[in-house]
Amino acid sequence: MTSQIIDGKKVAKLTRDQIREDVENWVSQGNRAPFLQVLQIGTDPASSTYIRAKTRACADVGIETGTKHLPDTMSAKDLKHEIHKINTDDSVDGILVQLPLPSHLSSHDVIESIDYRKDVDGFHPMNVGRLAVDQPTFKSCTPAGILELFKHYSIQVKSKHAVVVGASNIVGSPMAIMLSRENSSGKATTTICHKYTKDITRHTIDADILIVAAGQPGLIKAEMVKEGVVIIDVGINRVADETTEKGYKLVGDCDFEGLREKASWITPVPGGVGPMTVAMLMKNTLLAAKKSIYPD
Ligand code: NAD
Repeated sequence: MTSQIIDGKKVAKLTRDQIREDVENWVSQGNRAPFLQVLQIGTDPASSTYIRAKTRACADVGIETGTKHLPDTMSAKDLKHEIHKINTDDSVDGILVQLPLPSHLSSHDVIESIDYRKDVDGFHPMNVGRLAVDQPTFKSCTPAGILELFKHYSIQVKSKHAVVVGASNIVGSPMAIMLSRENSSGKATTTICHKYTKDITRHTIDADILIVAAGQPGLIKAEMVKEGVVIIDVGINRVADETTEKGYKLVGDCDFEGLREKASWITPVPGGVGPMTVAMLMKNTLLAAKKSIYPD
């Protein structure tokens, strides 16, 4: 079997086209354009790249953005004060604090200081909690984007065995919640693995759908899965590559070439999950502007 490719770039473009149309309609009804405020603490080059990609994509659909650059020496108190000012600014619909934060800052505290009604990343405990009890919420962008991919390609999730490798607050855990809820999107039987799982192959070999978000290049190999599995590779890892101009290339957590012979569907890296994450951020920003999740 040679896998069919899940083309995240293509689906993200279709999603963005729809969001652009929705933004145009919203503005033509006399509303101002949605506004996303980005905060970057420090100068991490990877964070700068992600922020550029997100703000460019927002501009492309008519969402306005502003990026505040704050020093990596900033205290937690000063940062929370800055966030509080944005929380109470009616011209801002969505707030994104780019992670990771400098080590002296707690991401939990910082995320919790964001007004949950502006938490377009979907990381605030209020939004994660509502996700867990099937209430309308800002869904964490990466897992929400993965569900959109399943929808686009009519990949059935209901009653399948979905295995999620990785249990972080931003990808693995919300993914497992979305897949496992029986009243909304997922309806799958869900297993979640992490670095303390003994013998992950025991679980991955039984997966109908395998979602991998561990940040470990080459973690999942062909012998660890069954024929026909659907593979979603969330990982983005830089590995040295002398043949490229930058001296590195991006790879996922899965052995793409080996798995292509066995999987029914597979995402490439790059061009799989990444573009959908950005598209879902824009979708959440528009929902925030419209106050669709939390009406006044
Ligand atoms: P994280 O480091 O916060 O969490 C990693 C998770 O993987 C943890 O739960 C850990 O226990 C688990 N893990 C690590 N090694 C493991 C192993 N050998 N076996 C089983 N589980 C293991 O990472 P994260 O923020 O969730 O990101 C994971 C990966 O996804 C990274 O490569 C990141 O760059 C990428 N990512 C991609 C997107 C996207 O849009 N494509 C978005 C977010 C993160």
